[in-house]
Amino acid sequence: MTGSAKTDIEENRVLTGLGVSPGIAIGELFLLNRARQPGVTHAITADEVDREVELFQEAVRLSVEQLREAKDKIIDKRMHEHLFIIDAHLLILADQMFTGDTEALIRNDLISAESALHQTLEKFQAVFDSIDDEYLRDRKADLNSVGDRLLRNLRGENVPCVRGIEKKTILGAHELSPAITMQIDREKVVGLVSDLGGRSSHTAILARSFGIPAVFGLENFSSFSSNGVPVIVDGTDGVVVVNPSNKVFKEYLEKKQALEYAEHQLLESAGLAAETLDGQRISLCCNLEFPEETEHALELGAEGVGLYRTEILFLNRPDIPTEDEQAEALGAVVARMAPHPVTIRTLDVGGEKIVPEISPHEEANPAMGLRAVRFSLQEVGLFKTQLRAILRASQHGHARVMFPMISSLSEVRACKACLEEVKTELRREKILFDEKLPVGIMVETPSAAVLADILAREVDFFAVGTNDLIQYCLAVDRGNKNVAYLYDPLHPAVLRMLRLVSEAANKAGIGACVCGEMAPDPLYALILLGLGFVELSMNALFIPAVKRILRAVRYQDAEEFVNGLSDLATKEEITAYLKIEGDKRFPGLFEIP
Ligand code: PEP
Ligand code: MG
Repeated sequence: MTGSAKTDIEENRVLTGLGVSPGIAIGELFLLNRARQPGVTHAITADEVDREVELFQEAVRLSVEQLREAKDKIIDKRMHEHLFIIDAHLLILADQMFTGDTEALIRNDLISAESALHQTLEKFQAVFDSIDDEYLRDRKADLNSVGDRLLRNLRGENVPCVRGIEKKTILGAHELSPAITMQIDREKVVGLVSDLGGRSSHTAILARSFGIPAVFGLENFSSFSSNGVPVIVDGTDGVVVVNPSNKVFKEYLEKKQALEYAEHQLLESAGLAAETLDGQRISLCCNLEFPEETEHALELGAEGVGLYRTEILFLNRPDIPTEDEQAEALGAVVARMAPHPVTIRTLDVGGEKIVPEISPHEEANPAMGLRAVRFSLQEVGLFKTQLRAILRASQHGHARVMFPMISSLSEVRACKACLEEVKTELRREKILFDEKLPVGIMVETPSAAVLADILAREVDFFAVGTNDLIQYCLAVDRGNKNVAYLYDPLHPAVLRMLRLVSEAANKAGIGACVCGEMAPDPLYALILLGLGFVELSMNALFIPAVKRILRAVRYQDAEEFVNGLSDLATKEEITAYLKIEGDKRFPGLFEIP
């Protein structure tokens, strides 16, 4: 592996970023897209020419395919007169001068496909600018539109070119979207690295659910790396080593083995009860992204599914899954998990999770836009189809339905009204379902947390989504590396909100499970316990480690430990308290940041 690629990159170039999925991976780099740097030309080596030309040709082929598909989809006759626009775009793509020039630039000037395309576009734009005819000059817009499409395809933003990936590949990118990550071949891609992205971004969540080590937030990794260079990804410590020497390579191989051995040992606790030293039972459930994870989750000791992210069923396919397809996929998980509960969250698209067929609107601020139930309550047909599928799945075991991104009581009532209508339909059609299907909501907006006592009267359970709750409470984009330092689960405002929710749930006698990415962290798990949360849900891989911590502490100690936090107002005070008090009460159990 070491020294296998010809590269100008110095030996052992070490980069630190955010370790978003643990483990160590070693492989050759496949760079999917680079940072957009207008005006900067990326040089390539002679060895990379064929690959870049191939990438460009693939982007042209994909663009043609997409435009033809778009044309076929236009069935409204009134739109037919506009078909010429698509034809004009297809003509540009068929123009030998346009594509031939770009390929020649890659070959002769030894520059990347993206750089070559930029240069061709600039040249053609200059020609259009010089034309003294308004109509023809306006055709520049067509050229730009084709250029944008090609660039997106080249960067893998529309349909990624991840097909040619070889064995043991580290997939690198400026930015990895959840849609791209969904498509990777888990047998071949062993590690992920990207310039952007945060720990609780959905791409990071997917990396963890695939069990693929990943380091994000590497800033300029994509701009200096090249295809084929050997890379070590240490997702446990958030380190990436580019072009490692033999010595470093061997050190990481040893570290990889040691980590795998430690994991194996932890697995032995899978069958033990999740119970504190003073007898408090804790329910440890798993978050599921893919139905195939169910078996492994049970092996790791999951006592149910605390969060099933159904939007994954909608990503990475050309159409929307039918009611039968959804009912079958959900029913299989419910049946396999029985008698344990499976908490099925209705569609949470929007934000970073774009499903092109159903979320066509570009929004300036998608995280606060038409997301989750806001979308479902507008697209009632789609929503009811999903609710029918969930109800049908409920007859196979113990299902629960849950609504995401609730921000008001009216939304809860509107969702429940849809559910009732669907139940009536099913009864009429004599289709079986669980009449007592529990109904819950995600508490992940500050408004839901503040109104928790009122909302608790209306539902059977809460699931606290700390990823979004922290993001919205602190106004910090959960996927943005630049503000990652502000994304603080121990912020006093976050802790206060969590306490409000736990107390409201306890008072109303309903369950409250934390299913955000706070739950799998040993220290945070203990704090959540101290706040009164006795249900936690996480990627199943983390269940054994969290169980080990919970079995080593007393519930009363955790409560007292957290009570001492309530009057502290700054991060510094909180960190100092955790260090002193944590060391005293729970010596050697976990590291305090
Ligand atoms: C959360 O917000 O904490 C959560 C579990 O939901 P998601 O990560 O899918 O937004
Ligand atoms: Mg959420």
